[in-house]
Amino acid sequence: MCAAISIDPVTGRKLFATRAAKSSERIAGKGYSIISDKTLTTLPPPPPGAVFNAGEQRRYREFKEARAGAADYMAMEGQFARYLEDVYSEPPVPRDSLTDECEILVIGAGFGALLLWYRLMQAGFTDVRFCEKGGDVGGTWYWNRYPGIACDVESYSYLPLLEEMGHIPSVKFASGFEILEYCQSMAERFGFYERCLFHTTVQATTWDEASGRWLVETDRGDAMRARFVVLANGILTTPRLARIKGMETFKGEAFHTSRWNYHIDLKDKRVGIIGTGATAVQVVPEIAKVVKELFVFQRTPSSIDVRDQRATTAEEYATWPNEPNWAVNRRERHALISAGRSALQANDDFLSGKIASFKQKKQHERQLSPKELVAAQLNTNFRIMEQIRARVDAIVKDPKTAAALKPYYPYGCKRPTFHDEYLPTFNLPHVHLVDCAPGGVKEINERGVVHNGVEYPLDVLIYATGFEWMGTGSFNMIRGRDGRTLREKWESEGTRTFLGMHSAGFPNLLIMNGPQGGGGQFNFTRVSEMHANYVVWALETVKARGARSVDVTPEAEAAYAQHCAEMDLLSAPLRDCISYYNGDGKAKPGSLAYYGGGERWHKRRMEAQETMAPYVFD
Ligand code: NAP
Repeated sequence: MCAAISIDPVTGRKLFATRAAKSSERIAGKGYSIISDKTLTTLPPPPPGAVFNAGEQRRYREFKEARAGAADYMAMEGQFARYLEDVYSEPPVPRDSLTDECEILVIGAGFGALLLWYRLMQAGFTDVRFCEKGGDVGGTWYWNRYPGIACDVESYSYLPLLEEMGHIPSVKFASGFEILEYCQSMAERFGFYERCLFHTTVQATTWDEASGRWLVETDRGDAMRARFVVLANGILTTPRLARIKGMETFKGEAFHTSRWNYHIDLKDKRVGIIGTGATAVQVVPEIAKVVKELFVFQRTPSSIDVRDQRATTAEEYATWPNEPNWAVNRRERHALISAGRSALQANDDFLSGKIASFKQKKQHERQLSPKELVAAQLNTNFRIMEQIRARVDAIVKDPKTAAALKPYYPYGCKRPTFHDEYLPTFNLPHVHLVDCAPGGVKEINERGVVHNGVEYPLDVLIYATGFEWMGTGSFNMIRGRDGRTLREKWESEGTRTFLGMHSAGFPNLLIMNGPQGGGGQFNFTRVSEMHANYVVWALETVKARGARSVDVTPEAEAAYAQHCAEMDLLSAPLRDCISYYNGDGKAKPGSLAYYGGGERWHKRRMEAQETMAPYVFD
């Protein structure tokens, strides 16, 4: 047997040492800087009398309609498959293929898997194995290491298991590098590394009815068996490229932001970046500091809100360790904030429990109908967007550039972004916004990007074109009872799950953070916690019943799918733009994320766990 796999003398189980070494010391960076200039860290007030009237509504509609059908993405296949290569770690550690059995096999080694492992351990489940495509833990934070990377949910509420780890993040919005190191510390502390097969991509997961086991096959030649399979492999995991004529001819260097190539030195280079979503907003200010010239190719501007980064204070370092459950309580308070912007701004006094409420709740004279409520929310939302637009005018000096940087859609409709250096970057003489609205970049040649007949020669081209949303790559290779894959089932019947956690015909398969999975708001760590607790409950319930497997009834999932569609339609006016949240305007209602809010999901979960009606035990 190869050194990467050994046997634990106490349990007799296999232990793995497959964590890859780091590929280069150049991979290092930071997130948001702390900015002291108050004009950059406060939003201007909304212009007086700002109302979302018919004229403004028309403007939003036209902005959206002009972009309809422009989104065109492709997978990284064929000659673009090289963009998927792991640039962060040394080649895979050699090991033997495995053909043995474990009780629980988890796909993924990000936040979801780390949290789940901790909960499983607490509940006494130890025959657990993880398979991870990357060379180390971290998931999103393993793959995304671009300059400027930071979390957008305050790190005191976002990082899991802070009390258990005795850790306090160094800043309010931690850099991705700090988060990755934190993941590594969790994995070391909780014995995760010994259970994880790194550089191992699951290629097929097939249910065997006779043995009541999943057969899990990987690209390392493994053919393992497991009673339970848990998908914890993320919802924005598969990078995508914009499909652009001539992109294969480009002779310079090119990569996607989720495989940042630090071997390419950007210093003194002419660099282009396609895309202006949450990633690009963090990347642009950082690379502008080193490149010779930067061209930002934009189809749709993001809303750039205030970040107001700050360091953790001496008082916080001193007091939090003495407050039992400080981070859990903070995360719970964070989950109480229902409006997206407030949650993401994260009022410190409220979150630390110093004040009971940070906002005057608006009292309406009478109970509003759902339609009136949405109209009122859209009005408030419009005023926030007016502030965001006023901020652009206040910061960006060139009026043409400022005009192009102003978004016209409801706040939160596309992923809101935050930065106090992004807008000022466009005042630098070597940074150019290339407004490609409404169609986007349509042509690349061997020298660079061509737009409106103008050629932009580039040394390096960076694709900040995002990821497939809720399209976890594994759905197309999980075969259930009737031989269909999960993707085939969803393509023919529409997305069908119960709570986002089960899908009928796929017994003992549990999905974390997948389509239709709710239980939290804005903070995916809370969703992961809820899902990890649910997985443990399901495993314990199967055990307590002496059952072989758990599945759900088709009726339960049909009713749940209808609920998801209704919730999606109800909140649609607040998400009325073209965004990956709605499959670039093409997704069937209810087929992607759960839009019912945390509490509704929990109500359904609790009902199910009380009545047990949706479940089928074998
Ligand atoms: P994204 O939001 O999907 O952005 C893709 C960008 O590419 C959009 O601006 C899109 O424009 C643009 N694009 C696509 N084709 C184009 C073309 N032909 N020409 C010009 N532009 C084109 O991807 P992302 O920025 O990587 O972010 C993905 C998600 O990852 C975020 O929403 C967030 O959830 C997560 N993320 C989180 C953080 C954080 O927490 N700190 C940071 C980064 C990312 P259109 O808008 O016009 O389609």
